[in-house]
Amino acid sequence: METLALEVELTDELRAMREAVRRFVDGELGPWAEEIDRSGEIPDGLIALMQRNGYCGMRLPVEYGGGGLSLFQYCIALEEFSRLHRAFTIAANYTSGMTPMAIARHGTPAQKEKFLRGFAAGKLKSGFALTEPEAGSDAASMRTRAERRGDGWVLNGRKHYISGGHVADVIMVMAVTDPEKRARGGITAFLVEKGMPGFSVTRVDTTIATDAIRLAELTFEDCVLPDSAVVGEVGNGFKVAMGSLNDGRMSVSCSCVGAAESLVERSIEHAKTRRTFGKLLAERQAIQWMLVDSAVDIAAARALCYDVLRRIERGEKVGSAGSMCKLFCSEMVGRVADRAVQIHGGMGVIRGFPVERFYRDVRHYRVGEGASEIQRIVIARDLLRGVRIED
Ligand SMILES: Cc1cc2nc3c(=O)[nH]c(=O)nc-3n(C[C@H](O)[C@H](O)[C@H](O)COP(=O)(O)OP(=O)(O)OC[C@H]3O[C@@H](n4cnc5c(N)ncnc54)[C@H](O)[C@@H]3O)c2cc1C
Repeated sequence: METLALEVELTDELRAMREAVRRFVDGELGPWAEEIDRSGEIPDGLIALMQRNGYCGMRLPVEYGGGGLSLFQYCIALEEFSRLHRAFTIAANYTSGMTPMAIARHGTPAQKEKFLRGFAAGKLKSGFALTEPEAGSDAASMRTRAERRGDGWVLNGRKHYISGGHVADVIMVMAVTDPEKRARGGITAFLVEKGMPGFSVTRVDTTIATDAIRLAELTFEDCVLPDSAVVGEVGNGFKVAMGSLNDGRMSVSCSCVGAAESLVERSIEHAKTRRTFGKLLAERQAIQWMLVDSAVDIAAARALCYDVLRRIERGEKVGSAGSMCKLFCSEMVGRVADRAVQIHGGMGVIRGFPVERFYRDVRHYRVGEGASEIQRIVIARDLLRGVRIED
């Protein structure tokens, strides 16, 4: 197929993988997207279908039943999922996202045996709990506290805006274990399981986006945890969380690219059929220029993401390049969605029409997993300490 930009940069392996995921999305997921829009839920049947087709635990080690995919391969899969519906990327993250990967990297053999196998089998869903009412961007100021009691821990505090926290079977919760040290050795990651005494879901928020994305408030009141609930070393939780967020930035970036591409394709289709004043919209320069600006935006975003992903795959340190991806891609998809609504006219704002849903869904990307301002702070820090852009 003729392409305008950059497809040539993919290896044969990645290209084949993209085609396989696209076949799965086009062939199987359409009815599930409709079901998600109807019910506002991510159905268990969808997770089961994803599991049968190898889309649960995609990044987890093969020895635990996972797919062993690299971050690059996973991001290509998310890009394809997000062309149809944002909910599919959420479903993928339940079993292959930040918490499963933190356990794969830092977990004990017993944690891996129990949880990774469960994720890969599509039987467990994960959540990741860092944010608190008084600690969002400034996560290190968290108040949730875990104190030593005997050979275990007692957890007290509150997290909020936790994606899927109300349905998760296991949640990685970051808590202060040494108030003097905080982010420098005083925060620890714990695995909290559904139904543990002292743990409850105290609120579930819906947002401007699809109802399939719900954010939960989690409350811990004298929640007793065994030592075996600690992920990695005591005091190392902030590093564990930040490592997970590095991956998360790339996943979000590629999800933005997929959503943007889908919006342009939908806009082109509309422009080629909608006539005004006796001519197709596609014949109007004003419309063409909006399509062009979006296409250029997407090409630049994809080039940036793939370059960074390739460098990560080679084992290079990418510094704040992941923040550049997250910043550029999340803002890019906002511009593209806005143009897509404009090209569709009234249809673009009608509730239930896909372009309208995309427009609402992509707004999250500029806030979650480090808002745009925080990504700018991270990049500025590197620039001002003399890191060259090509480093
Ligand atoms: C869809 C969605 C899903 C989420 N899922 C999860 C999840 O699963 N787990 C989890 O732990 N959290 C999750 N979050 C929470 C998310 O990480 C926080 O909302 C985010 O970090 C921002 O924190 P805040 O909402 O407290 O905003 P604040 O930190 O209060 O920031 C408000 C605004 O001020 C800006 N700002 C803050 N500090 C500065 C500064 N120093 N200079 C300039 N501007 C600044 C921010 O960029 C933002 O625009 C989710 C959020 C969303 C929207």
